[in-house]
Amino acid sequence: MTDTLKVDLRSDTVTRPTPEMREAMANAVVGDDVYGEDPTVNELQDTLARMTGFEAGLFMPSGSMTNQVAIAVHTRRGEEVICAEGSHIYEWELGMMAAFSGVVPRFVPAPLGVPDAEQVRLAVRHSIHQSPTGLISLENTHNKAGGTVIPLEVMAQIRAVADAESLPLHLDGARVFNAAAALNVSIEDVCRPFHTVSICLSKGLGAPVGSVLLGSKDLMTRAHRYRKMLGGGMRQAGVLAAAALIALRDGPARLPDDHRRARQLAEALVNAGYAVNLASVQTNIVYAAVQGAQQKVDIWAGQGVLASALGPDAVRFVLHHQIDDEMLARAIQVLTA
Ligand SMILES: *Cc1c(COP(=O)(O)O)cnc(C)c1O
Repeated sequence: MTDTLKVDLRSDTVTRPTPEMREAMANAVVGDDVYGEDPTVNELQDTLARMTGFEAGLFMPSGSMTNQVAIAVHTRRGEEVICAEGSHIYEWELGMMAAFSGVVPRFVPAPLGVPDAEQVRLAVRHSIHQSPTGLISLENTHNKAGGTVIPLEVMAQIRAVADAESLPLHLDGARVFNAAAALNVSIEDVCRPFHTVSICLSKGLGAPVGSVLLGSKDLMTRAHRYRKMLGGGMRQAGVLAAAALIALRDGPARLPDDHRRARQLAEALVNAGYAVNLASVQTNIVYAAVQGAQQKVDIWAGQGVLASALGPDAVRFVLHHQIDDEMLARAIQVLTA
């Protein structure tokens, strides 16, 4: 079976650059971005900063790097980062907050990925006897909870806690455009409560590579140094930014289709007898309880449908713009046979 006949639902990172992106990459005007001289990178950073209401942005190779640079900028060694249980900055970033910034996570409960502002307030520590809180970090949409959305009111309440405690507030917004689409509000509205926001261009928006950290000019100047320390100074990165600009232009409008298809898939799985928490299917991710997950995923893969086994009895499906209705129908046929 050739590659293109496979329905790849492992992640929204698996999309291939479109012909239009490849053409833009070939024609990109570039310079040395470590000197801040790549016009296409600058255009991407400025465009995203304007869209989100921040002063400045900084392009990096991955969302893990934008998150970890943000943590480094905001914290000092020995501090704690308050985050929702299951947060990507801890679960899937390989202990880097400890390895690089010398900080540790303090988790707050987050049913359906949504932490409660009062719980966040109670987790803040200033005592001389305990490691002090250095940062509060939210994740919207919340990946491990199923691509779930934090409502605007909750984000505003947590910003009020951060202000009262004089703490910075970061958003892991790898999929913040999905959150904006689900909430039916502007991307600026979702980003407003935060001091920094990390956004992936290479998830649902469809770029081949890249994330942008957003914040004040001052914070981005400091972030630039940490990016360089991590090996994120990419020189003529305009070839990547050119594709990301197209993802940014065309990607957001397509997300509601991904969300509709995720819903359709989730309902088909439920009808076929799989346990899916439909309340958690709010954007483009579907988690299903499947006994012997890896074995089942291997069988489906042999039939041309790829999914991720994330644990002994959990399978994740992620919709993206290179899964159309016809491909989804084919996947549903295999998954529910
Ligand atoms: C994908 C993702 C990231 C960044 O992942 P990279 O693979 O490093 O780009 C960060 N946060 C969340 C919630 C994600 O889903």
